[in-house]
Amino acid sequence: MDLPTLTEVRLPASRADLALSATVVPLGGGTWLYSEPQPHLTGLVDLTALGWTPWERRDDGGLSIAATCTIAQLVAIPHEWAAAPLFRRCAESLLQSFKVWRTATVGGNIATALAAGAMIALGAALDAELVIWTPDGGERRQRVEDFVLAQRATTALPGEVVRSIELAPGPLSAVTGFRRISLAALGRAGTVVIGRRDADGGFVLCVTGGTVRPEVLRYAAPPAASALADDVGALTTWFTDAHGAADWRRAMSVRFAEELRQELGA
Ligand SMILES: Cc1cc2nc3c(=O)[nH]c(=O)nc-3n(C[C@H](O)[C@H](O)[C@H](O)COP(=O)(O)OP(=O)(O)OC[C@H]3O[C@@H](n4cnc5c(N)ncnc54)[C@H](O)[C@@H]3O)c2cc1C
Repeated sequence: MDLPTLTEVRLPASRADLALSATVVPLGGGTWLYSEPQPHLTGLVDLTALGWTPWERRDDGGLSIAATCTIAQLVAIPHEWAAAPLFRRCAESLLQSFKVWRTATVGGNIATALAAGAMIALGAALDAELVIWTPDGGERRQRVEDFVLAQRATTALPGEVVRSIELAPGPLSAVTGFRRISLAALGRAGTVVIGRRDADGGFVLCVTGGTVRPEVLRYAAPPAASALADDVGALTTWFTDAHGAADWRRAMSVRFAEELRQELGA
């Protein structure tokens, strides 16, 4: 789609060239930006021009994923971590064509803050921390689960840029399980539920897709079936749209949570 209010699409050579504002915003893959009208925008700054390495192993055994890493590059990361199969499970839960797959970025998906944000699911389930560049030249860090506030709402302020998604070695070495359902075979996710069993026995359950923001429940050990069902059922952020009713989303999430509790060794 043409964006007729744009007067510039800049290619920055360095961080100093970003010069973002409320109307001049980062361009990742552009798959969302160019999919609907953006009458409030006057400029885009193409982050891919900065040439960030898509992903790097960290010295502590963790993984640093650049915000500009595409979905295709993410699923090509070697499976060196127990949780790595989750990368593809989440990527495939995106309702997308091959064009989106090769172009959409991990940072763009998180910053868009859709309930069906598959990279939000991945990041929230693995306690990922975002490195966010601030306009004053500094940076701040925030977990994905705290960054996404609601549909299309994040804590990002004008001028801020997600630089990377940081995954620590602990969650990366966890065993995970994944459930997703949609009303249509190729439909947008009604709910996505991810379970995680950490090496120390801890159990984490992450719900996205059916809730307007990522919901993460944490336990020192897998809880009793009734306690988990109560906790999932008590979440208050279910929503209704064309892709599912709130009560169906809650019911399916409760069911999936129990399946994952059993699968991950309750
Ligand atoms: C056919 C199709 C199917 C889709 N299906 C889904 C789906 O199932 N689930 C889903 O969540 N989305 C879906 N989308 C929406 C969108 O394409 C994806 O969310 C995609 O991952 C966005 O990534 P991008 O890099 O293209 O973002 P862009 O379009 O480049 O940017 C999206 C937003 O994020 C901001 N942004 C980009 N990068 C950064 C950064 N590093 N720091 C700060 N802000 C940034 C931009 O300014 C913009 O506001 C779909 C889109 C299409 C066209």
